[in-house]
Amino acid sequence: MINVTKSYMGNPEKFKAYVDGIYASRWLTNRGPLCCELEERLKDYLGVRNIVLVSNGTLALQVAYRALGLAGSAVTTPFSFVATSSTLQWEHIRPVFADICPQSWNLDPKRIEASLQADTSAIVATHVFGNPCAVDAIDRVAQLHRLKVIYDGAHAFGVRHAGQSVLNRGHVSTLSFHATKLFHTIEGGAVVTNDDDLAERVRLMTNFGIADFETIEGLGTNAKLNEFSAAMGLCILDDIALILEQRAEIGDFYQRHLGDHLQLQQPTPDSEPNFSYFPVALASHRQMLAARAALQEADINPRRYFYPSLDTIDYLQPQRPQPVSRGLAQRVLCLPIYPGLGRQVQQRIVDTLLPLCDAPRLSLAPLRRAL
Ligand SMILES: *Cc1c(COP(=O)(O)O)cnc(C)c1O
Repeated sequence: MINVTKSYMGNPEKFKAYVDGIYASRWLTNRGPLCCELEERLKDYLGVRNIVLVSNGTLALQVAYRALGLAGSAVTTPFSFVATSSTLQWEHIRPVFADICPQSWNLDPKRIEASLQADTSAIVATHVFGNPCAVDAIDRVAQLHRLKVIYDGAHAFGVRHAGQSVLNRGHVSTLSFHATKLFHTIEGGAVVTNDDDLAERVRLMTNFGIADFETIEGLGTNAKLNEFSAAMGLCILDDIALILEQRAEIGDFYQRHLGDHLQLQQPTPDSEPNFSYFPVALASHRQMLAARAALQEADINPRRYFYPSLDTIDYLQPQRPQPVSRGLAQRVLCLPIYPGLGRQVQQRIVDTLLPLCDAPRLSLAPLRRAL
């Protein structure tokens, strides 16, 4: 079975050499040398001012909300992985949804104001599938209403927008380095910010608020990255150019063959994609189910990222329904994309999908009108 992704693991000999080093030093966690080295290299590679490595992308979000002092409610996107809103709820910040833009599939800045509450303290948006949000428009709304802006950048590793890392936007951006992500540390994540004081608060919070052996400066949790994870990250970072190049080649192939037949996410102007995912939107829920069944018949396992639309989750009710997100969540499939995925398999995926797209009643005209 060909899955939507296959974890990249780098050179095993290189990883073993790092593990030998860990055995020699017995330094397993708590800001060990590999964690520090990875932090430095990521700061350079991504072009960001502060980056604090953490144990996963979910805690990155939770710690970011705490460090920014969020309370009350936050306006957020219904089209993301569940952690974007479940972390808010977990921190007792009520998620209030605003719908997405039908082209970019990101939080629509024009719809944020209608979702503001008396207690709204933040906007939490996802660069979904690595496509940058409308960051300037979101900034304007945030400034007008004195809101904090947090970007869930779990998909946006290495994504550049307007000549710089998109992770530099907002008060905080977070990353996930989960094994299924483009760049990973098995489990891991990071908090990125231009604000040095905020970075220091985040650092303290990820280590129980312990400033030194005898000083506890505030409430914290345990969100530290261990040395084995950091070693995996160092191995993968060595190969990142190759990873991105291979993903782009596959993405270009899909785009060339499917772009005229299926609705694709519209790239945000002045941005460089990382092809962390390759989502396609079928014409209807029924067509999506048919496409998934046909692919599975051909030993291909696409994934419904992201379903369900988060505004339908029981524990987040009541919410106003978000029709654009709900509609899209019914139609999207993510196709396999990862280094080493062969051209023959890519062709098989295209050949399986095309007959489903070209049925006469699924002509592009109504699709375009729906946009
Ligand atoms: C993967 C992901 C997360 C959670 O990251 P973990 O490292 O798995 O905790 C959060 N948000 C988005 C959008 C994700 O895709």
